[in-house]
Amino acid sequence: MNTQKLVNNFLQLVVKRNQNEPEFMQAVTEVAETVIPYIAKQDIYYGQNILLRMVEPERVISFRVAWIDDNEEIQVNRGYRIEMNSAIGPYKGGLRFHPDVNLSVLKFLAFEQIFKNGLTTLPMGGGKGGSDFDPKGRSDTEVMRFCQSFMTELFRHIGPNRDIPAGDIGVGSREIGYLFGQYKRLKNEFTGVLTGKGISWGGSLIRPEATGYGTVYFVEKMLETKGEGIKDKKVVISGSGNVAQYAAEKVVQLGGKVITLSDSSGYIYDEEGLNEEKLQRIFEIKNTQRERISKYLEYYPKASFHAGKTPWEVPCDIALPCATQNELNGKDAKMLLDNGCICVGEGANMPSTPDAVHLFLDKQILFAPGKASNAGGVAVSGLEMAQNSLRYNWTREEVDERLKSIMVDIHKSCQKYGTENSFTNYVKGANIAGFVKVADAMLAQGVV
Ligand code: NDP
Repeated sequence: MNTQKLVNNFLQLVVKRNQNEPEFMQAVTEVAETVIPYIAKQDIYYGQNILLRMVEPERVISFRVAWIDDNEEIQVNRGYRIEMNSAIGPYKGGLRFHPDVNLSVLKFLAFEQIFKNGLTTLPMGGGKGGSDFDPKGRSDTEVMRFCQSFMTELFRHIGPNRDIPAGDIGVGSREIGYLFGQYKRLKNEFTGVLTGKGISWGGSLIRPEATGYGTVYFVEKMLETKGEGIKDKKVVISGSGNVAQYAAEKVVQLGGKVITLSDSSGYIYDEEGLNEEKLQRIFEIKNTQRERISKYLEYYPKASFHAGKTPWEVPCDIALPCATQNELNGKDAKMLLDNGCICVGEGANMPSTPDAVHLFLDKQILFAPGKASNAGGVAVSGLEMAQNSLRYNWTREEVDERLKSIMVDIHKSCQKYGTENSFTNYVKGANIAGFVKVADAMLAQGVV
């Protein structure tokens, strides 16, 4: 049978079982299109239905989260944990609190996480969870009450050798603190059940920075293959949360010029580029004041704010989408290419739509899919787990060195499986490399 037919048959089967889950099907389709042609040529995998097993979560947990807001009104949200695959280690993946959260979004994220975690070389399976709760505009005590109610159910399903959640959109150090506190109280034990913890209570240095820094380290490696570097490059970044902030910081440290950041209300454009002082101001606006990005103009009036728009219309050399899924579409991709962009590194998960990805690959620019380029976050979460087990903390430099070397290894794995006629298709490389790692473990463990 020709491979396109194999891909189509497989996707038909998966779509039948997962109706109304567009994000999940988008992630599965991208993997199927690259991995099935590979499987078809490998005797050990062919006929084992490994991908069919991978798209089926090992367990889906869905639960009610009832809590009382500051007006003493009862609120009800929905909580989830998707335990997707534990072939190479306990389930590992973040929690997202955002009104758009649903089963499709979390299954796409959990599926991507299998491959990403496989790429890190660390022993972590794939999982993801969260809630449709929106922390935006809520008081600290409301967020605390929500987190306590959420954990009062979740604690039964997680554990340091079973399932170790972390942060994601809407879940930062504040939320991890409240979640950890409630877990500790319910279980009466102090364990590394969550990552992204505060430094004084089991966290790892460089964990907050890891996803953004790792993305930029990966971009550096890609640029190196063309004899290029980040210095003096114009960099457009979307988002202004955890990933965007630290991607921006690393670019600035390496001499690049970051000219945009955004949030769901629009983007700011600062022609002069960010510097250390401006970055600190952004950290303050977003993390302490919990304000909108447009507030940047109150401090730097020469910058401009573009309401309701994404930053892809701004001419740049490098684009780093670091906000959310499907935030960069085919039209945006064309604009970037027309304006001379040579490299796109995904800090977010699946931020580029399929037509955008196809355009980048057709034009053979440097394009890194999130599961490769943003894997630094979960990698340092893995290092946090290792330090918790050792009951010992590594220095900032030690963790940063390990992060760099993991990103270099991921880059090599992508090259190994994705290079043909001197062009590296990082999408194909990342999917096949992640698949091979997990598939081999699944084969060894039998049909379970
Ligand atoms: P944060 O919550 O810290 O920041 C998210 C940012 O994205 C905010 O600026 C937010 O703006 C913006 N955003 C969210 N939803 C939308 C939307 N629908 N449209 C436009 N902008 C939006 O999250 P993170 O920085 O942690 O995560 C960003 C991305 O990186 C996600 O895709 C996440 O899955 C991925 N990721 C994160 C990792 C981590 O370690 N944190 C690890 C690997 C991947 P606003 O405040 O207006 O909502």
